[in-house]
Amino acid sequence: MLAMAAREMGYHVRALDPDPRCAARFSVEEHLVASFDDEAAAERLGRSCDVVTLEIEKIATSCLDAAGRAAPVRPGSAALEIIQNRARQKTFLDAHGLPVGPFRVVRSAEQLGFALLELGGVCFVKAAAGGYDGRGQFETTSAEQAAEAWSALKASSCVVEKALAIDAELSVLVARAPSGALIVYPPALNHHVDRVLAWSVLPAPIEPRVAERVRELARAAAEALSIEGLLCIEFFVLGGDVLVNELAPRPHNSYHASVVGSATSQFEQCVRAICDLPLGSVDTLRPAAIANLLGDAWLGASPPSFDAALELPGVRVHLYGKTGARPGRKMGHLSASAATAEEAVALVQLAKTRLTR
Ligand code: ADP
Ligand code: MG
Repeated sequence: MLAMAAREMGYHVRALDPDPRCAARFSVEEHLVASFDDEAAAERLGRSCDVVTLEIEKIATSCLDAAGRAAPVRPGSAALEIIQNRARQKTFLDAHGLPVGPFRVVRSAEQLGFALLELGGVCFVKAAAGGYDGRGQFETTSAEQAAEAWSALKASSCVVEKALAIDAELSVLVARAPSGALIVYPPALNHHVDRVLAWSVLPAPIEPRVAERVRELARAAAEALSIEGLLCIEFFVLGGDVLVNELAPRPHNSYHASVVGSATSQFEQCVRAICDLPLGSVDTLRPAAIANLLGDAWLGASPPSFDAALELPGVRVHLYGKTGARPGRKMGHLSASAATAEEAVALVQLAKTRLTR
């Protein structure tokens, strides 16, 4: 999707991805098949590009530095180094006065046991590196599960968080150019099922006061990291309070609705930011929602009935071209635009139920 936006603007695109059948293969002009820790390949990529960006966190920072010897890499390795490790990320947020929930960083089963006792109640233990879509996490109800959680996660360090009574989840996308120009999107409201994003709507139908607060915090996070490119900040809302959950330095699932609802999609905005072009308007032209399509939808007796979803005015289908549906794997999403955020959510959910018609 990022490559398609870049090509629409007249750029040529190369991708580095270890999977020969990666989703980008149809929209880029060259695909370097190399692992995310292959410094020589990263340097080759840098030498053949005017600017390099990333859309996954699990890249070795040494690769960003290798590419960076030949071309600007945005966002750079300093920001990725902090973000790709939950322990460093949480500590960074806390140190910069960004509000986070109670947490501990632990490096052994014993430390985990103490942390669970101290925090008390239900906790989330999250591997510091490599987790996504709720993977690399273990939910505990008592400190007695320390050994079990530690051996299940197989991580050298973990972040332990108290389970919070969340009223809602929001995210805010910020784009920042190397010039320092910065723009903040309206918040998106996100609904997770089993720790995976199920649907998201833009703009979030929330009190203006809460929207202003999260946009302010998002801007502060982007400035603290001097991010070049995109930064998406996930938030928890508890009563009138908001806490930062986590950061992502790239296009984000919760802003896929910007493709149909915003004056500038997150993908075009990313291109503008990394190429140091003027940033585009973040105005919402029409409220829009998305519903994720997981691999499970392909594993039933018959394939998803996309025609039944497409019959609904305002509904679109977005498939990523991934080969091999697996349970829980994000294969694409549906989008719907409507007069209000609530109607957009209802419409996209109706469209999703039609897939199994
Ligand atoms: P991931 O990188 O997998 O998105 P997150 O830390 O964002 O990891 O966790 C995924 C989801 O799990 C969150 O969006 C939220 O719904 C739930 N979750 C995570 N941490 C907590 C917490 N401390 N309290 C309550 N719910 C949580
Ligand atoms: Mg998350």
